[in-house]
Amino acid sequence: MWEKRSRVQRKGPVPVHRCTCTHVHSCTSSSFLPPSRPFLTPVKDFPSEIGQGLNRNPKMTRSIPVKGEIKMFCYQCEQTARGTGCDRFGVCGKDPETADLQDLLVHVAKGISQYAFRAGSLGAVDESIDRFVIEALFTTVTNVNFDPERIETLIREGEKIRDRAKKLYDRSCASAGRPSEDLGGPAVFVPAPDLDGLLAQAEGVGSEARRRTWGDDAAGLMDLILFGLKGTAAYADHAMILGRTDLTVNSFFHEALDFLTGDHAAEELIAMALRVGEVNLRVMELLDEANTGTYGHPEPTRVRVTPITGKAILVSGHDLKDLEILLKQTEGKGINVYTHGEMLPCHGYPGLKKYRHLAGNYGGAWQDQQKEFEGFPGAILMTTNCIQKPRPSYKGRIFTTGLVAWPGVVHLSNEDFTPVIAAALEAEGFSEDGEEKSITVGFGRNAVLGVAGKVVEAVKSGAIRHFFLIGGCDGAKPGRNYFTEFAEKAPGDTVILTLACGKYRFNKLEFGEIGGIPRLLDVGQCNDAYSAIRIAMALAEAFETDVNSLPLSLILSWYEQKAVCILLTLLHLGIRNIKLGPTLPAFITPPVLKVLVDEFGLAPTRDVDADLAEALGKND
Ligand code: SF4
Repeated sequence: MWEKRSRVQRKGPVPVHRCTCTHVHSCTSSSFLPPSRPFLTPVKDFPSEIGQGLNRNPKMTRSIPVKGEIKMFCYQCEQTARGTGCDRFGVCGKDPETADLQDLLVHVAKGISQYAFRAGSLGAVDESIDRFVIEALFTTVTNVNFDPERIETLIREGEKIRDRAKKLYDRSCASAGRPSEDLGGPAVFVPAPDLDGLLAQAEGVGSEARRRTWGDDAAGLMDLILFGLKGTAAYADHAMILGRTDLTVNSFFHEALDFLTGDHAAEELIAMALRVGEVNLRVMELLDEANTGTYGHPEPTRVRVTPITGKAILVSGHDLKDLEILLKQTEGKGINVYTHGEMLPCHGYPGLKKYRHLAGNYGGAWQDQQKEFEGFPGAILMTTNCIQKPRPSYKGRIFTTGLVAWPGVVHLSNEDFTPVIAAALEAEGFSEDGEEKSITVGFGRNAVLGVAGKVVEAVKSGAIRHFFLIGGCDGAKPGRNYFTEFAEKAPGDTVILTLACGKYRFNKLEFGEIGGIPRLLDVGQCNDAYSAIRIAMALAEAFETDVNSLPLSLILSWYEQKAVCILLTLLHLGIRNIKLGPTLPAFITPPVLKVLVDEFGLAPTRDVDADLAEALGKND
């Protein structure tokens, strides 16, 4: 099956992958095709006892509820119920209906991709079809869309898009003088006419159905691919919003979703997961180009983290363009705009920081939003993820835009933020200034590599002993103080690079400097993992070594699917000995974990002192 598909892919004029040449190992690859990985063992041959001794719930992969006893099944994020799966109601607030409809939307996207992949192999591309599939995947990411009505609408729209993709494929076959392949599975799926029918159909298409059909290990690997794709789709969507796309990337989404409709051995599934990581690297590069091309390279910038007197709007989520539009629309209106969560890095971009009413950052990471939004005396704009169930106290003054949605919350889809501005003017605003306090952001690759010579000298002289990359997605579960404690205990001759919302665990602490180089360097959002990779590659080049030989340790927190695709990128690059926490993904079964441990040295976070000693021991 795999060979057959690979041949189909190679025949067509799908654009050839441009190697990004950021591999840690020496890179001779000129295509997306995976290198042969002889170390991989078929799932059936994996010993069953492996993974013991790791910080992991042994019940994690053997708790599939009996069919009929569960209302939903979702285990795509770190806070999944009992570390096994949400089967009655999502810990995130996702109800069973929404969960089932999201599964069905992914199924519809697979059907579209079955045709779009084959049409693309024959040179026929429709970017509106690509966009629908990418947005459908992003819609199902944790904390994005909780509105079953909107998802049902997307399912029905998806059926029409699928029919268009089929026509595109049939026409391209006719032009090529060859018969169309008779496809089955999601390609011929017909959504039921009513909600009850859709929910009944959903029973056969989600993760739980895959586990029953393929077993835990294969289903877990399929979900590793799917969840990685969802994260990559989020970044691809952000890049598309700023006008950056890559047809090779679009084609890969279709190829991977088509791949997931088939039966594959474990080594093929793992190879595909690593390809997701490879394509995600390209997508993060695209987004980096989009952000820096539109708003300039981030530069070190002091950001006030306490409020100032006046009317206020808080912007959360990840979308830079929404912030820019809002800043333009609020100019001269006497409203201060604050960033929240992953919007903090926006203050470093010249094209955004030029707005004088971009007043500062308010609050912390996404999981604290209910308390923080309640206390914010203004309007709130939620762009993309991560939204939580709004409390009644602020439901009337929070707005969604883009793909994010919550039932009953006003959604703005036309880039006109007039209702947000009106709500801000109506609200009290801050009655007094908070105590003056600020932090520094804006240490993207351009800023850090601008002082690379100084950094290299500091390492050579022994002033800097070690680098830690501590960051990733933050979450609400206990155990995440590990990252705070790790940063606090990192010795004074070490530098901490951080990114994503995991930084809020320690970014307001004082770390000081080493010879003028701040000990805490905020690289940016989660997708700025690309920037961190470029920094690491440049350091490796300066020391004439590879990234794995640098005095650098990666201590990553994960929460949702964007962290999954970044982890796959790091594994694709051959980066070893990553520490991942606070718990390991429920969909990674012990046999698969053994592969990750054996081949990549991936390990769960344990005790801070032990992990710190192990990391610093690398220097000896
Ligand atoms: Fe549960 Fe996470 Fe899925 Fe929400 S996204 S239903 S919390 S596993």
